Amino acid sequence: MIQLKNEHEQAVMREAGQILAGVLSAIQKMVVPGVTTAEIEAEADRRIREVGAIATFRGQPGMVDHAPPYPAATCISINEQVIHGIPSSRKVREGDIVSIDCGVTWRGYIADSAISVIAGRAHPDVERLVKTTRQALLAAIAVARSGKHLHDLSFAIQSWAIAEGFGIVREFCGHGVGRSLHEDPPIPNYGTPGTGPVLRPGMTLAVEPMLNLGVPKVKVLKDGWTVVTADGKPSAHWEHTLLITEGPAEVLTRRPDETD
Ligand code: MG
Ligand code: MG
Repeated sequence: MIQLKNEHEQAVMREAGQILAGVLSAIQKMVVPGVTTAEIEAEADRRIREVGAIATFRGQPGMVDHAPPYPAATCISINEQVIHGIPSSRKVREGDIVSIDCGVTWRGYIADSAISVIAGRAHPDVERLVKTTRQALLAAIAVARSGKHLHDLSFAIQSWAIAEGFGIVREFCGHGVGRSLHEDPPIPNYGTPGTGPVLRPGMTLAVEPMLNLGVPKVKVLKDGWTVVTADGKPSAHWEHTLLITEGPAEVLTRRPDETD
C-alpha cells in the first residue's frame, strides 16, 4: 500500500532531504583521482552524525541469501559497479565513474539520493552515459505530478535510455520512501505510459535510473552486495527523493549547487 505523508511528515522528510543534499554536495567535491572510497565514506558518515541524523544504509539487511547487513553509510560504486559497492581502500582513478548513494534518517523519516561523478575527464561515451542518466532522472521528475501514472515516470526514463542506446537495469528499481527505506510502490526504469498507480499529493518517491553503457544484465558479486554489469562495461546511477504535490514535484534532495 502506498503511504501518503501528511504535512508534518512532509516537513520532516524535507529536512531529511536537505541534510542528505548537503552531505552529497560536500562529498562530491572529494571525487578526484587518488582519493579512496573509504575516505569519501568517512566524510559522509561524519557529516551525517554531526547534524544528529542516522546513516540509513548501515545495517540494512542483504537482498541475497547470506549477505551480511550493509556495513556503511554510503554505497560507492565505480565504473562497472552499478549499485551497492562497499567503501574500501580502493583508490579512484582518472576517468572513473564514482556513483555515491546515501540515505539519512531524520526524526524517523528517510531521504535517499545518489549522484554519479566522473573523476577528472573520461571517455566521451562515459561522459554521455553519466549525463544521459541524469537527464533521464530530470525527465521523470518533470512528469511527476498528481494525476499522472507512475509508469509515465518509468517511460520518461526508458525514452532517454533508448534514444542514447543504453541498457536499462531491470533487476533493481526506484521505490516509495518514508518511515522505511523501501516502501510501495516499486518504480521500474522502464514501462508503459498511462499504467501503474495514479500519483497523489503526499506520495514520496525515490526515483533512480540505473543505465549501462552495454547490456542491461547485471550480477551480484560474492560479497553479497556489489551489483556489477554482466559485460563489465560502465554504469551510472542518479537518484532523488520526490514529494508529489498538486503542482510540480518537489525534489526533497535537491542539492544547493544543483543546476536546472
Ligand atoms: Mg539510494
Ligand atoms: Mg533508493
